[in-house]
Amino acid sequence: MAVNVSPELLIVMSPGATAEQTEHVVARLQEAGVDVRVSPGREATVIGAIGERELLASLPLEAYPGVEQVLPILKPYKLVSREIVPDGSLLEVRGRRIGHNWFGLIAGPCTVEYREQTLETARAVAAAGATMLRGGAFKPRTSPYTFQGLGHAALEILREAREETGLPIVTELMDPRHVEDVAEVADVIQIGARNMQNFLLLSELGRAGRPVLLKRGPSASVEELLMAAEYVAKEGNDRIILCERGIKTFERSTRYTLDLGSVAVLKHETHLPVIVDPSHAAGRRDLVLPLARAAAAVGADGIIVEVHPRPEEALCDGPQQVPAAEFAAFAREVRDVAALMGKEIG
Ligand code: PEP
Ligand code: MN
Repeated sequence: MAVNVSPELLIVMSPGATAEQTEHVVARLQEAGVDVRVSPGREATVIGAIGERELLASLPLEAYPGVEQVLPILKPYKLVSREIVPDGSLLEVRGRRIGHNWFGLIAGPCTVEYREQTLETARAVAAAGATMLRGGAFKPRTSPYTFQGLGHAALEILREAREETGLPIVTELMDPRHVEDVAEVADVIQIGARNMQNFLLLSELGRAGRPVLLKRGPSASVEELLMAAEYVAKEGNDRIILCERGIKTFERSTRYTLDLGSVAVLKHETHLPVIVDPSHAAGRRDLVLPLARAAAAVGADGIIVEVHPRPEEALCDGPQQVPAAEFAAFAREVRDVAALMGKEIG
């Protein structure tokens, strides 16, 4: 028998509702076996009720004191939809923030190649005020004959970089068998564009206990991205950052086509923070800064950008990596645009 376990209702409390009234509604829902997400908004508290349709229908929700409105969630994505957290979510990791008025500046090498390369980059981006350090340990490469990443050895280097700089680590998970190992070092687990619809991998992230940076697949629609995020949220992990990194189109002048419109749409549709990867979208260094500024201007909550001490020697994505020596100036330019949007580097 198919069981409908999708979250179905939004219970909007009246602006004057008391905390006790909200708690009462939550308690009744929980007693009935319904999962609840409470979002204390600026204007009113919103309760998302997640459970079987029949179960929800059996509760006299409108009759509870303090309840103003009970609405069905009509979108196919429920837990990640904006309605659940009308003010948007803020992600906080080791004191660094992304979302609300905080602009996340995630920077670091495409790939961890060797200890000094990563530490040098980490020092440069930390000095420039970066929010987090990125670096690939397990790399999704188009060709099986190219460098595939240092794997576990890279995780140890990233751990050392965090110890030295204090920057939280963002690194990619490709294989569900590595969940524990990656989660041990990663403060944020990246799911790469190619794995956006690897549903088994997504479901594993519920037990990883780490925030997730979910990149949009090169051929995925905005709705497919949101449904992929829903897979993670459904497992009880809604600490998710979405990332627009360019899509495949007929256009060849950039590596991918950066879909900035999707950022505006996503900010409307979901409460999750949305960031942009100008590096993979551009594919060439000279375009990374203008795309990064555009990302800040369109209202993104941050960027993830590739930085290397000597891009000409990089084992992966050299043409698009910003030289570490230029990163402080790069960061200032992005910070200025973010400031126009009322945001500070988080
Ligand atoms: C990356 O960020 O290192 C990466 C491989 O990006 P994407 O998954 O967007 O191609
Ligand atoms: Mn790369």
